Amino acid sequence: MSQPQTYYEATAEPLAEFPPLDGDRRADVCIIGAGFTGLSSALSLVERGYSVVVLEQDRVGSGASGRNGGQIHSGMRRDQMHLEQQFGRSDAWLLWEIGQAAIAQIDERIARYGIDCERRSGLVYADHKPRYVADTHRYVRYLRDKYSYGKVEALDRDGIRALVRSEDYHGGMIDRGGGHLHPLKYALGLARAAVAGGARIFEGTRAEALIDGARTRVVTKTGTIAADWVIIAGDSLMKGLLPEADARILPIASTIGVTAPLGERMKDILNTPMAVADSRFVVNYFRPTADGRLLFGGGESYANSYVADPANLVRRAMTAVFPQTAGIPFEFAWSGIVGVTPTRLPMIRRVKSNVLLAAGYSGQGVALAPFAGSVLAEAVAGTMERFDVLSRLPVPSFPGGVMFRHPLMVVAMLWYALRDRL
Ligand SMILES: Cc1cc2nc3c(=O)[nH]c(=O)nc-3n(C[C@H](O)[C@H](O)[C@H](O)COP(=O)(O)OP(=O)(O)OC[C@H]3O[C@@H](n4cnc5c(N)ncnc54)[C@H](O)[C@@H]3O)c2cc1C
Repeated sequence: MSQPQTYYEATAEPLAEFPPLDGDRRADVCIIGAGFTGLSSALSLVERGYSVVVLEQDRVGSGASGRNGGQIHSGMRRDQMHLEQQFGRSDAWLLWEIGQAAIAQIDERIARYGIDCERRSGLVYADHKPRYVADTHRYVRYLRDKYSYGKVEALDRDGIRALVRSEDYHGGMIDRGGGHLHPLKYALGLARAAVAGGARIFEGTRAEALIDGARTRVVTKTGTIAADWVIIAGDSLMKGLLPEADARILPIASTIGVTAPLGERMKDILNTPMAVADSRFVVNYFRPTADGRLLFGGGESYANSYVADPANLVRRAMTAVFPQTAGIPFEFAWSGIVGVTPTRLPMIRRVKSNVLLAAGYSGQGVALAPFAGSVLAEAVAGTMERFDVLSRLPVPSFPGGVMFRHPLMVVAMLWYALRDRL
């Protein structure tokens, strides 16, 4: 099924197509997947002088990295209280620092490589249940007191409604350290910088298998790459390449709709340039674009593939939050596949002595995926501290194995989604 054009594709300067791999080559590092993880890894590696080949089965940025909400979150997908409880204070601290470094890296690269990707600061978390508000405010105090993180502030009911014109929300918080960007422009910017540094990218080239040897051989239909290191960065779209990832990363579709520029009408919907994510299990996430449109994401599908009618699915989510948008058409609507792990924490692993994997950011990969890609590059170069803390995060298999995890997860997801309404 050919996919509808996204707003991001319509507004980004495209890259010239890279040819498919043709024949047998050699590289220090072969990277599988040209999304944030793979492109960032490639860039970090060429910066260190490695020869790098990137294999992409489709086009650069065609996966989640070029079709997401663009929201930049601080920290991990689970909050610091949870991480401290699960992994102890020391690892929780390191994870928080990794999250902060991930955001700093975006800004450094935008500056260093001149990537124009509409970076804006500020992310609002909106509580859709009155009883969540006290916990959110407690978390604001916790981050300020224990992490000396002064970029958060609590929002009461009037505070949130001044920013987000919906009766759905009862309070929340602002994180001025978070923000948003145009994700495809960022991904293409990383690709341009990596190629300028010497990386070779082959599009339309699916890695079919890895063969061990003195060097690992990555096999495709049109050639092979013999590499000292292999980095697997295919996230939820690499079905079949690595069974242990398939068992731990569940592909879930999420849909996004984008209106025409709204002019003055915008402030009756969203009265802030910041992005917003709400407290639902099936998260609604929205933001104004640089050209004044409302970009709204929500309405997951557990069908394990792109959604046939994304506009319909996301419209239902949007009008539930903003009934005033009922008559406003979308100019763009599309879906993307999110790679979700059972713990909602990323899967960073040494799969074999010279094969590394980073994937499963569970809806929080705009900052984390590029940074994880760089952490894999650090590991190739022999610096292990950040790789070690990330690879200690436990990622169990989904119950039911690859065959039955989907039906079992659907039941679980529907239960959580129902709980949102109670
Ligand atoms: C609709 C949607 C909204 C989201 N919103 C947000 C958000 O607002 N904030 C946030 O932080 N995160 C968000 N995310 C998550 C975020 O987009 C991802 O975590 C991140 O982009 C993952 O990057 P990646 O490079 O690991 O994977 P991808 O971008 O999916 O890249 C993987 C690439 O590998 C290629 N590939 C796979 N297998 C092979 C193979 N065998 N051979 C060759 N190539 C292969 C794929 O074609 C793909 O291009 C969202 C995701 C979606 C889908």
